[in-house]
Amino acid sequence: MTVSPSLSVARNGRVLVVGATGFIGRFVAEASLAAGRPTYVLVRPGPLHPSKADTVKAFKHKGAIILHGLISDKTLMEKILREHEIETVISAVGGATILDQIALVEAIAAVGTVKRFLPSEFGHDVDRADPVEPGLTMYVEKRKVRRWVEKSGVAYTYICCNSIASWPYFDNTHPSEVLPPLDRFQIYGDGTVKAYFVDGTDIGKFTIKTVDDIRTINKNVHFRPPSNLYDINGLASLWEKKIGRTLPRITITENHLLALAAENRIPESIVASFTHDIFIKGCQVNFAVEGPRDVEVGTLYPGDSFRTLDECFNDFLLKLKDNLEPVHEENVSTKNAVVESRAVTPTCA
Ligand code: NDP
Repeated sequence: MTVSPSLSVARNGRVLVVGATGFIGRFVAEASLAAGRPTYVLVRPGPLHPSKADTVKAFKHKGAIILHGLISDKTLMEKILREHEIETVISAVGGATILDQIALVEAIAAVGTVKRFLPSEFGHDVDRADPVEPGLTMYVEKRKVRRWVEKSGVAYTYICCNSIASWPYFDNTHPSEVLPPLDRFQIYGDGTVKAYFVDGTDIGKFTIKTVDDIRTINKNVHFRPPSNLYDINGLASLWEKKIGRTLPRITITENHLLALAAENRIPESIVASFTHDIFIKGCQVNFAVEGPRDVEVGTLYPGDSFRTLDECFNDFLLKLKDNLEPVHEENVSTKNAVVESRAVTPTCA
């Protein structure tokens, strides 16, 4: 019998998730717990926003060990990694603190017992994508962290999961927490450039699958589920089918996105620069996954399915109904219901 290399290693190593109170990190920590892994969650010291405090409580309830600290504190991180015999570190810190990971990498290298580090990526392949400023600055920082990791000799995996399944608002920061439009669609350029949309739970699930898979050591892991490859015209049609009505389509030109990016308003301009990179330049689809350091997650785990974008949009429809019950035709057409509002950082980097 042939044993898959990915299954030939133990799957019970201790995982430390940094940024688990954040947008992406929550999915990762939940997936780690769901996979039955000993899961440690690093929480920043100090008072937490009530919704984040609830998240931490829920992790604890599911068996997570909560630790407190900052990744920029190298001495503390070394102590934590040693004392808790952490084997995998997954960072999902936000765009503003990408460079804090340098101290974390140094701590991991000094301890010498961590088998895999996943830095905060969770978007595009930052060595390939080349957005305009101010998004570029974030990529430059992520590239710097990559080079630091590679120089350290620590085994790593870069998760290039593309866009989170949602409506990709160009002036919004965490799109999956906001419903798709109910008044009009803003279509970028001619609306024909495709992108991959991945459900947050799948980002978490597949991230956790990679952490002790020998095929993902020192690789970029690309998420390209064929069922979730859409251009924005297709996305609009899908949503129209769900809500049972058609909406006007307004073109947002390339120049409009570039002008907003040039305003350098943070975080809006960062989101505009990524929107330009995805839906005008095609940064998710303008290269083949075929380099020696590239693997595609569907090829690695052919037996595991992704939630389709169609299913994800059903979730939005349910949220819409929950928010606007009873759903009257007139308010469906005029109002965007915000599912949850909280401080956020730019999307899809
Ligand atoms: P958030 O800002 O939502 O969360 C960041 C998390 O990191 C929080 O838990 C925060 O703690 C924690 N944190 C920040 N700095 C430190 C530190 N120095 N020490 C310890 N913890 C720290 O981030 P996102 O989830 O938005 O972003 C995570 C990654 O995912 C980024 O690389 C981003 O570019 C990418 N991304 C990708 C998206 C996509 O569509 N593919 C969408 C969104 C993000 P606290 O709760 O105290 O603030």
